[in-house]
Amino acid sequence: MTKLRFYSGLKEIGGTVVGVETESAICYFDFGFTVADRIDHKVNLRKGHEAYDYVKLGVLNAIDGIYEPETAKALDLKAYGETDKEVFFIISHMHIDHMGGLGCLDQKVPVYMSSDSAKLYHAMGVMGELEVREHENIIPVDYDGSFTVGDIKVTCVQVDHDVIGACGFLIETKEGRICYTGDYRYHGFHPEISAAFAEKCKGADLMISEGVTISFGDVDMLSLEGPVRERNEWTLLEDMKNAAEEEEGLIIINNYNRNVERIHRLIGEIKAAGRVMALEPEQAAYVAAFYPEDEFCVYVPEAKESAYGNDAAGYLSGRKIVNRTEVMADPGKYILQQDYKNSYELFDLAKVASLYVHMDGAPLGDYDPSFAVFYNMLDSIGIRYERWGLGGHAEPYYLRHTVDVIEPRILVPLHSFRPEQLLSEHAGKIILPEAGDVIELK
Ligand SMILES: [Zn+2]
Ligand SMILES: [Zn+2]
Repeated sequence: MTKLRFYSGLKEIGGTVVGVETESAICYFDFGFTVADRIDHKVNLRKGHEAYDYVKLGVLNAIDGIYEPETAKALDLKAYGETDKEVFFIISHMHIDHMGGLGCLDQKVPVYMSSDSAKLYHAMGVMGELEVREHENIIPVDYDGSFTVGDIKVTCVQVDHDVIGACGFLIETKEGRICYTGDYRYHGFHPEISAAFAEKCKGADLMISEGVTISFGDVDMLSLEGPVRERNEWTLLEDMKNAAEEEEGLIIINNYNRNVERIHRLIGEIKAAGRVMALEPEQAAYVAAFYPEDEFCVYVPEAKESAYGNDAAGYLSGRKIVNRTEVMADPGKYILQQDYKNSYELFDLAKVASLYVHMDGAPLGDYDPSFAVFYNMLDSIGIRYERWGLGGHAEPYYLRHTVDVIEPRILVPLHSFRPEQLLSEHAGKIILPEAGDVIELK
């Protein structure tokens, strides 16, 4: 028996949770927040009651066998260890809508993720960027590596996305093969990795696909003849190299700090222009964790000597620190990475800045109320800005192309406001589940 239960994140973007249940085990993926608009950070979560509060909010799911005894009892659920089947999670990547709930699980629940994701997850914990707490029982899996729990075999299959460590999964049971794309794209540094995912999952009985890029307008999927987008990670590097050479003042970038490979490559790219990357401590730690040889400075606005703040794992020890005064004294020497939350630094930095580039950092899009606030602020500061965001999701043609290659017997599109638009002549049948629906694989 293999049953797939679809809990959430089906006709929306974020919070996809699916359970694959067999005779002896249940595999859940992913575990991020759904309907994030029910979270208002102006309302405090109650310390120690986060899991309970999130379930009550409908942001996490009420599922047996995954929460701590006290939480489970309060929610009228079975706690971890109280179900007769082995329960485990697999997590596709480190975006909050896929992993934000991990800190709410019972600490003993086995959570499998790619080795790169595990490395980033730990660095995020060290740098204070995790919700609630760092989950203790993380089990890293290499790309193409497999593991078995009960009668479920899972293989971690890498994809290219705008966060390091992203993967999809191939889940095998007695009844068949299920593949889950996670989030992926073809305009990153490694389109060949996303292409290889499709090859490795060829002939899957059931394919679960994301569909973010078909969310916002009409798409006639079957008539698409090829990719249309022109900009990609490589052209962005080129653009930044040119800006590094042509701009005279400081360049400030607002990027997404978990897209570590982009920063790694930018560091190399701007060297020839005589510029050095100055990274905020969180971003610096993530780059150092993966690319220890990279040369960059750590930006701490008020630092006098060495004061990184939080660096318990020593990611930043020995790195050169620059403060605001130093950057402002020699603005043409630096490209400064700055998170949205530190934007008021711009009141000072704008005096020496010649370009501000918003490249996939927060606020992510105009659906975020902060978006208009942010651009009004840039206007009032009077800084010259450009938007170079690329996003992390495959354009519609590639969403279809991947289905065409895999040729699944059953296709389940989700993680989209309009999943029904994902069509392919090579999918046997398409199912659009509602929350709570079960598909039995025969
Ligand atoms: Zn996503
Ligand atoms: Zn994602």
